[in-house]
Amino acid sequence: MSSFDKIRTRIAPSPTGFLHLGTARTALYSWAYARHHGGEFVLRIEDTDVARSTQDSVDQIIAAMNWLGLSYDEGPIYQMQRLDRYQAVIEQLIASGRAYRCYATPEELTAMREAQKARGEKTLYDRRWRPEPGKTLPTPPEGVKPVIRFANPIEGDVTWDDIVKGSITINNREIDDLIIARADGVPTYNFAVVVDDWDMRISHVFRGDEHVNNTPWQINIFNALGAPLPSFGHLPIILGDDGLKLSKRRGAVSVMDYAANGYLPEGMLNYLARLGWSHGDDELFSAEQMVSWFDGSHLSKSPAQWDPAKLDWVNGHYVKHIDETRLAGLVVEQLAAKGVAVTVEEIQPKVGLFKDRCATVAALADWLAMYFVPVTPLADDLAAHITDAIRPALAALAEKLAALTEWNKTTLQQTLKETLAATGLKMPQLAVPVRVLVCGRAQTPSLDAVLEHFDKKKVLERLQSL
Ligand code: GLU
Repeated sequence: MSSFDKIRTRIAPSPTGFLHLGTARTALYSWAYARHHGGEFVLRIEDTDVARSTQDSVDQIIAAMNWLGLSYDEGPIYQMQRLDRYQAVIEQLIASGRAYRCYATPEELTAMREAQKARGEKTLYDRRWRPEPGKTLPTPPEGVKPVIRFANPIEGDVTWDDIVKGSITINNREIDDLIIARADGVPTYNFAVVVDDWDMRISHVFRGDEHVNNTPWQINIFNALGAPLPSFGHLPIILGDDGLKLSKRRGAVSVMDYAANGYLPEGMLNYLARLGWSHGDDELFSAEQMVSWFDGSHLSKSPAQWDPAKLDWVNGHYVKHIDETRLAGLVVEQLAAKGVAVTVEEIQPKVGLFKDRCATVAALADWLAMYFVPVTPLADDLAAHITDAIRPALAALAEKLAALTEWNKTTLQQTLKETLAATGLKMPQLAVPVRVLVCGRAQTPSLDAVLEHFDKKKVLERLQSL
């Protein structure tokens, strides 16, 4: 920390798709760590894979960051706009003997690896183009553009104290002279990331633990550049509920898919926070609380398991507790996506009655749709509940309801009771068939409260539909 005057973290997604849940968690931790320390958080777009990077992905990543409320202080900074800078640093490394041009063809490299395998050796680049005292290099072939390789130290250990995993040591004999710029001049990830983290004064790097093996190279490059070393924290992967790595094939992995499916940013953020980090027994907390607690300790070393039921439980908490006008607005959006046009004014009075039983806004919208679009009761429900024995009672109820001049919970309750008294039925015997016909489902909150929000005409139509 002494080399840095401020805590600065970053998230550095490659814009080759949506914001993955794992990247979102890394972004959340990086953001919370910076905010906890009054530092800064940077968004960097690692777009050097030109063939796969798209502006659409950048837009989606930014939309997901905004949705989660992960505000960044700088960026987006695009690597492809920094090519001159990488080139200058490469020249500097070549001049100081820490990088060199390599003209080996893919065929030569394949042959080299085959020979190493045949000898039972590790397949590492054999440094054939690396200038060394007393060594005569081959003559550069005509018309071949070289790649640039970093002259990695040949001996010695690279050790760092990982924020998550503790001390990690890798011997330089295990790694080779990696390519830092391709023949077209575009830098590779391990090099660009170092120049960027250096230039952007990043003090703490959080990322997925698939990068642990890259870190020794990066540390060696930092050292070759005389750049201050950030601290590294490698977060374990997230496993799907089947114990395999969370992936697209095994369900939604895009943050914005969850937004579209009616999850709330508060719920998502709270759930992601707990996937690999804890603060005592706290399960439900706000972003502000997380920021006040997130000091880089209590990060889990073992993989986290994605648990849809827990996500629903956490999200359901926020569905219950957020402001009802906002909730109504989100329901309006959900219904609009299904082609049902409604207003916040129509929705708002109804959300309180159903929100406690909903894990997502989508589930709430499913409930409220019955007020606006025709319902289709299940055939099983119709067969079980709309019997010839009950039809006279339903007709009697419809008649009484038609005569009501005031339509509210009290008058509805009264009418239901009168119908029970007149027919000798018990409440469930009458209420369940009414629910099936009017609401399209056999279970609902208290029937008088549900009916109150309907138009009388609609209730009568549905009661008389069979
Ligand atoms: N672009 C890299 C990734 O998405 C960034 C890794 C890093 O944070 O250094 O995995």
